[in-house]
Amino acid sequence: MTGITFVTASEGRLTMAFSFTIARKHNNGMGRAGVLLTPHGVIETPAFVPVGTKGTVKSLSPEDVRAAGADVVLANTYHLYIEPGHEVIKKAGGLHRFMNWNGPLMTDSGGYQVFSLGAGIEDGISPSGTYKKRKDDDASGRHARLASVDEDGVTFRSHLNGTEHRFTPERSIEIQHGIGADMIFAFDECTAENATPEYQKEATERTHRWAKRCLEYHAAHGSLDTQMLFGIVQGGKSRALREESAHTISSLGFPAFGVGSSSIGADLEKNLLWSVPFLPEEKPRHILGVGEPKDLFTAVERGGDLFDCVAPTRMARNGTLHTTRGKISVINARFREDFSPIDADCGCSTCAHYTKAYLSHLLRSGEMFGATLASIHNVFFITHLVRAMRQSLMNGDFETFKKAFLSAYYGTV
Ligand SMILES: [Zn+2]
Repeated sequence: MTGITFVTASEGRLTMAFSFTIARKHNNGMGRAGVLLTPHGVIETPAFVPVGTKGTVKSLSPEDVRAAGADVVLANTYHLYIEPGHEVIKKAGGLHRFMNWNGPLMTDSGGYQVFSLGAGIEDGISPSGTYKKRKDDDASGRHARLASVDEDGVTFRSHLNGTEHRFTPERSIEIQHGIGADMIFAFDECTAENATPEYQKEATERTHRWAKRCLEYHAAHGSLDTQMLFGIVQGGKSRALREESAHTISSLGFPAFGVGSSSIGADLEKNLLWSVPFLPEEKPRHILGVGEPKDLFTAVERGGDLFDCVAPTRMARNGTLHTTRGKISVINARFREDFSPIDADCGCSTCAHYTKAYLSHLLRSGEMFGATLASIHNVFFITHLVRAMRQSLMNGDFETFKKAFLSAYYGTV
């Protein structure tokens, strides 16, 4: 057991409120099981982080989220800034109190939404830090009308009512101070997936300069004991840029790291191989936007500790449910008279008490309770899948577990 209490990015001041311990490593030298201590409790890593965009994991109470096995929730800074505003949350005593979640909380920087939402892309739909090209992005992937970037920050329009707003690195951190999550993120520029190499380089280098400003603002105005600031590695699909980004962000002294633009499938693995080995081993790493079982195995195997994604809850509301034998669409007619649980092996409260036929009926009828029951199951499934990965790391049989799970889930591996 190697215990590491690390020092936050401020004059070497020791912070006891946070610590990260690596308990066991994968024999590939990258994956690891650990324990992250935060002011609001312990997270055993690797861990899945459900997304509570507007201060709620859609359709679930905090008690449901906890019962589904989640230790930590990530809320979106952009959405909370637009409505109800961080000042209101601050007056309420911070987001923990406001939403009645007393466990560990994270907020993202708002960067992804600022750059993507103006296009009408749904919140967090990208499985990564890149987003689909917007109609008004020019051919180089440079952001146009709805989000204009300059060296100091970005001016954008609210996706709700078109009003104009401006985020700078300092402003993003100031808002995240007001919201008061335990773990917060540096403000980064998220590029369109079609960004040219030239523009990607320009955006990545700007993200590095912004990272430094975020650290400085946090050190001067924030509480280093209560909010851990994650630096974000970007670099798109370029190996050279990702390595450079990981080196640069590591050198700035962040206590933890996020990996953006990580994408899915084979691209995810490449992007992690080009970033993670250059990050300090003793500090925690959050891989942004990973929620598909196969991708979660990749991200754990390649050294990720935390992973957030809206997919489990979004899919649930559409009736798509995880089972150990793959996804099912419970609204399909063949489930109308299927009185068995979603997955007989699942330990969630939905599977203990309700049938596919009932869920199928509720979701086809647009009943809110259907979304709740389906979300409980999907959050439980993904949270416990990542927990099982952790256990397999601890037991030293990750590869065996991975092979068995993927073969049952996807049918072929
Ligand atoms: Zn279940």
